[in-house]
Amino acid sequence: MSKALKERGKGKVVGVIGDGTFLHSGITPLLNMAYNQGEAVIVICDNRTTAMTGMQEHPGTGYTLKGVKAKELDIPALAKVLGIDSVRVIDPYDIKNTRDVLREELARQGSSVVISRRSCVLFKRHQPETLKPLRVDVNKCIGCRNCIGLGYPPLAWRKFTDMPAGEVIKNAKKQEGNSFIDADLCTGCTICQQVCKVGAIVEAE
Ligand code: SF4
Ligand code: SF4
Repeated sequence: MSKALKERGKGKVVGVIGDGTFLHSGITPLLNMAYNQGEAVIVICDNRTTAMTGMQEHPGTGYTLKGVKAKELDIPALAKVLGIDSVRVIDPYDIKNTRDVLREELARQGSSVVISRRSCVLFKRHQPETLKPLRVDVNKCIGCRNCIGLGYPPLAWRKFTDMPAGEVIKNAKKQEGNSFIDADLCTGCTICQQVCKVGAIVEAE
């Protein structure tokens, strides 16, 4: 894409691949991209497992297919050895840093790899114990829908017209409803909390 688009492609070409697929069939294309001076940002979504096909181990997890501890592949070091100009590791739960790093890498000349590292929420080995479900404080929510825009399954929208009169709480002139979080689906990642500008997303009781 970067070769075909030339100047028009500068700062615009992005590829996204999972960690399992990268180690299965993404290393050779990355080497070729670096060697042929392709200008793109490749995001490796490193969720510490092969989630797509059933949580199989791969060389980046540090376990063999039989679950025996093994020497974990250093993906950032691999990307550097393949000739990538800039290699960064980010935590995708940190929205501001994620945006900043992607903007910086898109503006940079040359090839970039961004390793977005967070364990799959369904994969128990790496789950931090501290994350708790969040809830929307209807007394603060102004109905801006920033959180809904994330498109995450636990977040939904309730129109005031669909609520019993006693439950309607308006905090802004143009507000048509409130968002709410399904606590059974929420993993407590805090991403919606980071995009809510009025602090309406708080810890569930
Ligand atoms: S919870 Fe926050 S981001 Fe979501 S609609 Fe309400 S005010 Fe907007
Ligand atoms: S905390 Fe994370 S999982 Fe829970 S609703 Fe917000 S974005 Fe979704």
